[in-house]
Amino acid sequence: MKNLERGFPGSSWGLGILFWLLLCCPAWGSAFVTFPSNWDVGQAFALSLSSAVEYRNPSVTWLGRTVSLDVEQGGEGYVSYGLLGSYVRDIKPGEYPLVFEFIQNGQRIRVTGTVRLVARKYPEEHLKVSPKMVFPSKVDQPRIKREAALAAAAKRTMTVKRFWSTPPQYPIRSVVTSSYGFRRVYNGTPRSPHAGTDFRAAVGTPVAAPFSGTVVLTGDHYYAGKSIYVDSGNGVLSVFFHLSEIGVKKGDRVKKGQIVGKSGATGRITGPHLHYGLCLAGQYVDPFPLFSTNIAAMLNGMEREEIDTD
Ligand SMILES: [Zn+2]
Repeated sequence: MKNLERGFPGSSWGLGILFWLLLCCPAWGSAFVTFPSNWDVGQAFALSLSSAVEYRNPSVTWLGRTVSLDVEQGGEGYVSYGLLGSYVRDIKPGEYPLVFEFIQNGQRIRVTGTVRLVARKYPEEHLKVSPKMVFPSKVDQPRIKREAALAAAAKRTMTVKRFWSTPPQYPIRSVVTSSYGFRRVYNGTPRSPHAGTDFRAAVGTPVAAPFSGTVVLTGDHYYAGKSIYVDSGNGVLSVFFHLSEIGVKKGDRVKKGQIVGKSGATGRITGPHLHYGLCLAGQYVDPFPLFSTNIAAMLNGMEREEIDTD
């Protein structure tokens, strides 16, 4: 279900439509948007915008966050790709608007679609950790708060250029010991669901960057332990937790497959492993299915809808 509005940049929507009707210009072209109409809570989905006619400043707004998209020249003209999803902890099943905006022929185009998020049952997982990791002392509270603010700022990073490409590279090739979405119970107390994928790894195992990007945060945090945050553009952010060594620093550019650190057992853990998390426009999603697919396959089978931008 889509809803198209148009207007000239800077004008009100209503005025824009009126102007447009009065001008009655010749046909200039069309654009296409592709996104799913139904998707599981917690799972990443792909979207695209394309047109034979050049456009600029494309963005997509989803769950309260506006994501800037890149414009690339493809075989049939211009195309923009995005990856979005929803964090199972925060988002309930239901219908949510997805708003595409771009400027074409001096006209601002705005298309509103709807994605219906469908419930998915994630299993429960019982873990035993140090008691201070379930009930931190008062002394540790300011530190935890400070680190949460740093992580939140990293998750707000928005770069227009697309550094991510699919499929991502596995950060570590090993067994998954805990999957995304597991409803976690620590020492009998329920806590947030698992926000990433845990790979079994002995302390000191090299960790590769699944996507190219820029390091936006590193630190030794209370829960995450030694951690790295890498921004790959368009709201795509990778996080690596519980490391024994951090091999990069804030501002470093990393290439897909580059070793960024070594796995460890720091922070809230039950044993040595790598926690890899994928945050899309502020929403932690299940990274694992992405390792065995690519953007073309993700978009394949979805309805591609034409927007008449004349
Ligand atoms: Zn984990």
